[in-house]
Amino acid sequence: MVRIAVDLNRCQGYAQCAFLAPEIFTMHGDEALLYDPEADEAQRAKLAQAAAACPVQAILVDAVDAVDAVDASAEAVSGAR
Ligand code: SF4
Repeated sequence: MVRIAVDLNRCQGYAQCAFLAPEIFTMHGDEALLYDPEADEAQRAKLAQAAAACPVQAILVDAVDAVDAVDASAEAVSGAR
């Protein structure tokens, strides 16, 4: 399992991640990003590509320590589904 965190304060909704790893990241409307915080190990390569492509480096892969910092935002977004 790969843990993912997205710093939604940084995310500008460029959607590069959603193009590169649509199984994990989806855009909801023009700017809101939804993502699965626990991806399958098989998605690791795609995730790395998505993280590298993010123009503002908002995606943290294997972000065990960082998860707490952005948890509140992630919950706010998943609650909006
Ligand atoms: S690529 Fe980065 S800025 Fe764009 S939607 Fe994904 S996380 Fe947000």
